[in-house]
Amino acid sequence: MPREIRLFNTLTRRVETFRPLEPGRVRMYTCGPTVYNFVHIGNLRTFLFEDVLRRTLAAFGYRVTQVMNLTDIDDKTIKGAAAEGVTLREFTDRYVEAFFADIDALRVQRAEHYPRATEFIAHQVALVRRLSERGHTYVQDGSTYFRIATFPGYGKLSGLDVNEVKAGARVDADEYEKEDVRDFVLWKAAKPGEPAWDTELGLGRPGWHLECSAMGMALLGESFDIHTGAVDNIFPHHENEIAQSEGATGRPFVHTWLHAEHLVVEGQKMAKSAGNFFTLRDLLAKGHSPLAIRYLLVSVPYRQKLNFTFDGLHAAAAGVERIGNTLRRLAHTPAAAGEGALPAAAVEEFLAEFDGALADDLNTARALAAVHTLLTRVNQALDAGGIGERIRAGVEAALARVDAVLGIVPSVESEGAGDAEIDALVAERNAARKARDFGRADAIRGELTARGIVLEDTPHGTVWHRSA
Ligand code: AMP
Ligand code: ZN
Repeated sequence: MPREIRLFNTLTRRVETFRPLEPGRVRMYTCGPTVYNFVHIGNLRTFLFEDVLRRTLAAFGYRVTQVMNLTDIDDKTIKGAAAEGVTLREFTDRYVEAFFADIDALRVQRAEHYPRATEFIAHQVALVRRLSERGHTYVQDGSTYFRIATFPGYGKLSGLDVNEVKAGARVDADEYEKEDVRDFVLWKAAKPGEPAWDTELGLGRPGWHLECSAMGMALLGESFDIHTGAVDNIFPHHENEIAQSEGATGRPFVHTWLHAEHLVVEGQKMAKSAGNFFTLRDLLAKGHSPLAIRYLLVSVPYRQKLNFTFDGLHAAAAGVERIGNTLRRLAHTPAAAGEGALPAAAVEEFLAEFDGALADDLNTARALAAVHTLLTRVNQALDAGGIGERIRAGVEAALARVDAVLGIVPSVESEGAGDAEIDALVAERNAARKARDFGRADAIRGELTARGIVLEDTPHGTVWHRSA
């Protein structure tokens, strides 16, 4: 039996115990990138929340099937391709490739499916046909619209009161604000110079919202467990997805809706004009490590705004380093006889707290605090006479679980070759310092520095790592 998890469902506005439609199996849909540009760290915050959700569910014993769409046709991609005079496919391929490179760098696990909107046109057309058969659509000037007055549940996700809506007022844009609650476009009549498909709905192309309903139901079934995105997706995108899907099937579309809060930069909205707009590439070019960026982006629980600061990024890098240093120290310190100075209960308490934090609506901050408490106890035990073989294996397994769920543990194994020699030099330097032979101690430090080894004298002894 998988472990229980509680999640905040936007639809009911409550934290609920999650129950999948099929026991032990989770089907989830995550709104993916619009591939017209490099993704920014705000988008990545949302993708990392989804990655931690997926990893947590797997670690808790669920079998996860995740779909993430690639929006390769909408107002923005069409405009971008036209501006550069290339085909839509050439234009979007470039950003699809960049997207995968970015999520790989951040250790995001791959979803099972990455459908492209342009490869599911027939499904989208079929969905509009079903909506028309049930009286939810009308045609105006060659475009097909969803008549929201025919769907009494409209507004249930975002909490909108739709009584005020002017019947028959329409909106053609893919993105719009709540002030524009109107009949929205399902299929747009072709415009000169825009990509178009010749279908039973006439020559045209799908509106943005349609793809997620059509691809979600095609790959996960008409009703599935989880749908995620960031808070800006709640209206109109997800509200429209519900109307399109439930309007067509008469069945509940999604059971649990989860939305990540936004990332802001130094307390302000991230905007190109404000000069505080960052892609992953921007941060890597400044010398920040992908693991530190990942650590920072997963460290704040997803329903809180994440205030990105460079101080925060430095603190995250220190957090990653602390994990690596402790793992190294653990590996390089001979095992104590018997239990040693760390009781087995320390590992058990950690695992209970770590899993309990994640089961509590993915409280990653609490989970990370538990990790650091464990590291402190491990370092104290190493100072106080060492850790027994079996418990050391338990600590290593616990940190492997941390890595499986949060993906923030640096690899110390690949450093293997030559470690014993470096350990010996570090030990020799310590002995020299104890003997007040500072000349010899400094010479050893100099030699290690030349070999790219950074020494750090901590209250818990000397630790070392290879400079990045
Ligand atoms: P887009 O490519 O614009 O469709 O966005 C991809 C995902 O990133 C969507 O789920 C958006 O809601 C989300 N997103 C956009 N801006 C931010 C932000 N500043 N913080 C967090 N998520 C965001
Ligand atoms: Zn979507």
